[in-house]
Amino acid sequence: MKLYSTKNPSTRVSFKEAVFNSMPQDKGLYMPVNIPRLDDQFLNNLDKYTLPEIAFHIAQHLIGDDIPDADLKAIIEDAINFPAPVVKLEENVFVLELWHGPSLAFKDFGARFMSRVMSYFLEEGEKQLDVLVATSGDTGGAVALGFLGVPNTRVTILYPKGKVSDIQELQLTTNGQNIRAVEVEGTFDDCQALVKQAFTDAELNDKFRLTSANSINIARLVPQTFYYFNAYAQLLRQGIKKVVFSVPSGNFGNIGAGLLAWKMGLPVEHFIAATNVNDTVPEFLKTGVYQPKPSVATLSNAMDVGDPSNWVRIADLFKDDIDALKTLVTGNRYDDEQTLEAIKFINDNYNYVACPHTAIAWQALTDWQQDNLKSDTAGVFLSTAHPCKFPDVYPDSIAAKVDVPEQVLELSKKQKLSVALGKDFEGFKDYLLENN
Ligand SMILES: *Cc1c(COP(=O)(O)O)cnc(C)c1O
Repeated sequence: MKLYSTKNPSTRVSFKEAVFNSMPQDKGLYMPVNIPRLDDQFLNNLDKYTLPEIAFHIAQHLIGDDIPDADLKAIIEDAINFPAPVVKLEENVFVLELWHGPSLAFKDFGARFMSRVMSYFLEEGEKQLDVLVATSGDTGGAVALGFLGVPNTRVTILYPKGKVSDIQELQLTTNGQNIRAVEVEGTFDDCQALVKQAFTDAELNDKFRLTSANSINIARLVPQTFYYFNAYAQLLRQGIKKVVFSVPSGNFGNIGAGLLAWKMGLPVEHFIAATNVNDTVPEFLKTGVYQPKPSVATLSNAMDVGDPSNWVRIADLFKDDIDALKTLVTGNRYDDEQTLEAIKFINDNYNYVACPHTAIAWQALTDWQQDNLKSDTAGVFLSTAHPCKFPDVYPDSIAAKVDVPEQVLELSKKQKLSVALGKDFEGFKDYLLENN
């Protein structure tokens, strides 16, 4: 697999280089030079394959000989060891549940695959890999569990004090081993700024082999294509051949992977980019003007992004043919009041509890289906997190229905281990140097 930078299409780097660098020096993003169309034999018979088989076929075609087949298979079987079921709510309305992994959010797909790929590429005797990651909640937990116990790696998670849910905080701070958590007196943006500054600090780079685990890493994008194909496989088994996906979007990695799947030949009729009031992309799809804004806090906090970092990948995929993009993708935004109404409607009508991000995707799908009624087309909305991660969002009557998985009950017995720091860079740098 060869990759180029979206800012510099003539550059070429290997998969390994792209995975460890995360981002090119020119601050573009890495994109595959070849996005192969998968063979019809595979596409027409998806219903005969399991999720790990589908994942292997896609990864093999995309990544090529950078990882030999047997090793790639082992990585996938270890990383993607939980299901992604499509559940029917009513005629032509399905939910794709992506939260059956250990951190209870879809970010397990990307984080678990990436951690194993990094560990695979780390050669004997190489310097320990220091992974820095800023999180607004779900990324930290997925990355922590993805790297926990992986030899020759260490993860430092920065999270904003008081701004993640209790369960999210426990997922970040109770791991021990090669995972450590830093509680920053500031916002998510402050955490991200500290990480970014660390990457440009000469002394830290001299001393440590730093890498990033955020969603711009190509090794997080690749495994997110797997579940789109696997969802289609499940629909095929029910005799359904046409599908629309509605994706709750923040940094646009998830829907970006869906578009990559489409480019590889997955027959998707339409995509819906569902956002909260941080609606930079829906606005762009309406007006043609891309105007980043400061992010606004909402109930669906994992989507509070004013300048989605993966958007350049999507623009690049369409080589700026905005009309083609608009034909395939619709954007819709919803505020907190609409989010709560959607949660209540889904509960009342389907006896199903959706997390706030998921509820937005359902609403966007419902609105789209109203305007584009097609009886032969299944609507699938992606459910990105287990509702138990956001207990404060629900009215009591709904909260009481949320079952809390065993791993969460276990968490509350564990002890929080974190270091409190201010948002100044010198303090963070001293911490890294002194705690080697
Ligand atoms: C990260 C996240 C999102 C947004 O996904 P992107 O790939 O950044 O668009 C949506 N829902 C949940 C629960 C998340 O954790």
